[in-house]
Amino acid sequence: MKYYDKLIFELSKEGRTGYTLPENGIAEYSIKDIPSDLGRAQEAELPEVSELDVARHYTNVSNMNFGVETGFYPLGSCTMKYNPKINDEISGLPAFTSLHPFQSEDSIQGALEVYYNLAKSLSEISGLAEYTLNPYAGSHGELVGLMIMRQYHMKRGDTKRTKVIVPDSAHGTNPASAAVCGLEIVEVKSNDKGTINVADLEPLLDDTIAGIMMTNPNTLGIFETEILEIAKLVHDAGGLLYYDGANLNPLLGKCRPGDMGFDIMHINLHKTFSTPHGGGGPGSGPVGVCAKLVDYLPNPRVKKDDDRFYLENGENSLGSISSFLGNFSVYLRAYVYILTLGKEKLKYVGPLATLNANYIKESLKDYYYLPIEGLCKHEFVFDGLLDKSTGVTTLDVAKRLLDYGFHAPTIYFPLLFHQSIMIEPVETESLDTLDSFIEIMKKVAIEAKEDPETVKNAPYSTPVRRLDETTAAKKPLIKYKD
Ligand SMILES: *Cc1c(COP(=O)(O)O)cnc(C)c1O
Repeated sequence: MKYYDKLIFELSKEGRTGYTLPENGIAEYSIKDIPSDLGRAQEAELPEVSELDVARHYTNVSNMNFGVETGFYPLGSCTMKYNPKINDEISGLPAFTSLHPFQSEDSIQGALEVYYNLAKSLSEISGLAEYTLNPYAGSHGELVGLMIMRQYHMKRGDTKRTKVIVPDSAHGTNPASAAVCGLEIVEVKSNDKGTINVADLEPLLDDTIAGIMMTNPNTLGIFETEILEIAKLVHDAGGLLYYDGANLNPLLGKCRPGDMGFDIMHINLHKTFSTPHGGGGPGSGPVGVCAKLVDYLPNPRVKKDDDRFYLENGENSLGSISSFLGNFSVYLRAYVYILTLGKEKLKYVGPLATLNANYIKESLKDYYYLPIEGLCKHEFVFDGLLDKSTGVTTLDVAKRLLDYGFHAPTIYFPLLFHQSIMIEPVETESLDTLDSFIEIMKKVAIEAKEDPETVKNAPYSTPVRRLDETTAAKKPLIKYKD
């Protein structure tokens, strides 16, 4: 039985789908198969409005939004680069958008080719043997990668390895994914240069360690120069190295996590490879592994035999971790981006992003406190204003920037400093934009000294003023009418 047919069959046996598998193998959907207790109890309350009212509503709502195409968006750790229009145009072609997940392999050869070629490009870019594109997000990729790490040790009968080392500078998703995967977290502290000391790591490496999760450059934008030694130590102790690829942008075409000794990694297509993100998706977090781990990759895998592409389920695989082949429209955008730039131009991405970050850092360090001096990669962190006497906090600075038309940087992350302002300008911004941002950041620092109340009560120009952010996130008002 083919993979999808088997899946439908399994799900329908459990009563989890309205699909039934007829004799001819073509799945059909019938509304009567939906359990009656899932039906609506009363009519939906929908507004009776004209097309013009609908158009106005959405135009006004979109005008309240802020995106990369509204203004500068220096959100650290998020790589808010421009998403070229050509990517959307190609991913919107009816040949792709009208594909149905239950089509036969023979009728989706083109789509499978895109999947296969994109996975191959990611292998070449990162130095890992094979990729699955199936995970839906970076954090989902982390979970899948850690499941592979566990599976590897379990299959070898090395069942004691239940701990994973995570640096204190790590993105919050790292320890969260490890916990979801059932691994115990062992923290390793950063030194005053913002990197990991080999001497601090060594005593932690025993036969209970499954591996280490790192990103390089780390979340402070600092390159871990001792990575080769770290990799050797972890491998010698029987552990594996996981690379959080959210920071791959500065490395593109320059160096590869696989060559540094990493065994497993995820890539955020919605960061490094210019596909849109924010608002919860759709994202994509492909996971790559070194040769000895390919058998554990999730199902299905896309393979090639002469000129034909096909799906295969591996015997030692983790199983399925997403429906069908994941977020396909995201793959198209990333694939177009890679093909548009090509091998040579991809090599400019990292250096330009790095130059932009260092330019802003050096221009502002007389106004904001720079805890770690020296060259950064694609991003860096200030610890609040240089002048601490004003009482103006990082939150106040972030809110004031909104009045000047800039998206705020990432604030209060990483947790190593109390007033973190994390700035990542990316490579797609012009010198003019960087200069206007620098000018406004200076202006806010001067305002903080001369007129702190103005900064503390900002913003003034946004549709809403300061919100209780927890309530706003937990209880969003999404009704069209009260
Ligand atoms: C964004 C990010 C993640 C998580 O990726 P999502 O796609 O948002 O789940 C993990 N680590 C780092 C360093 C990140 O910047």
